[in-house]
Amino acid sequence: MEDYRKTKGRIFDIQRYSIHDGYGIRTIVFLKGCVLRCRWCCNPESQEYAVQTMIVRSEPQVIGRDVTAEEVLRTVEKDRAYYRRTGGGMTLSGGESLCQPEFAAALLRGAKEAGISTAMESMACAKWEVIESVLPWLDQYLLDIKHINAAKHQEFTGKSNEVMLENAVKIAAMQKKYQVELSIRVPVIPGFNDTEQEIREIAAFTGRLEHVKRLHLLPYHRLGQDKYAGLGREYPMGDVEPPSDRTMHMLLQTAKQASGVECQIGG
Ligand code: SF4
Repeated sequence: MEDYRKTKGRIFDIQRYSIHDGYGIRTIVFLKGCVLRCRWCCNPESQEYAVQTMIVRSEPQVIGRDVTAEEVLRTVEKDRAYYRRTGGGMTLSGGESLCQPEFAAALLRGAKEAGISTAMESMACAKWEVIESVLPWLDQYLLDIKHINAAKHQEFTGKSNEVMLENAVKIAAMQKKYQVELSIRVPVIPGFNDTEQEIREIAAFTGRLEHVKRLHLLPYHRLGQDKYAGLGREYPMGDVEPPSDRTMHMLLQTAKQASGVECQIGG
């Protein structure tokens, strides 16, 4: 057995039988740590790399555990039959997996070498060398693009978007070399990016990326709200409601026209 499977990392959850975040039935591995602080984040327990205590249904729960890639892969490999039948596999999520690049690469490599398809949810906020180190083991890059305007991106997520947009162009250009498929995902957040103009700009950027065929609009939801209370934090989104179906369908039409790629709500 190769040494890379002994690489250690920190996760906070593994969800089996998911039908989101990639094709078919998937196992989602959630890695701890993120460089952004998006106001709408539905996994606030992912943001800090540190192990934390969160109150869940009135009970304290430890969030974060250190594991080897091998331990995670043993769980992932249990559902191989489902992956085979549905075209599914393993998805890395978080947090931002690229905050733990050696661990992410070890998980992806281990899955690929076991014949399991791989995907990673990421906003590509990392040095290019870090991103390129995981591409050989990745089948699908699910890349978040949140806004085209750098100042607004900074205001609502804590970081500007220049590096992420530059990396999006590079990842798109590397799809053939690494046989990875890039899909763009846009969280649609009221008061942040839910106007036709803002979605048009993101969709037009997507349309200019080489070989990109798919754009997903992911409507804001409030499912993470209770976690903020559990962590002793105020919910940054206040009373903001999810976008209506009508708004989402209008934005879907805008995205289709501006991008020229396949667009869908959810994903
Ligand atoms: S990038 Fe994702 S995990 Fe990180 S803060 Fe934003 S929504 Fe949360």
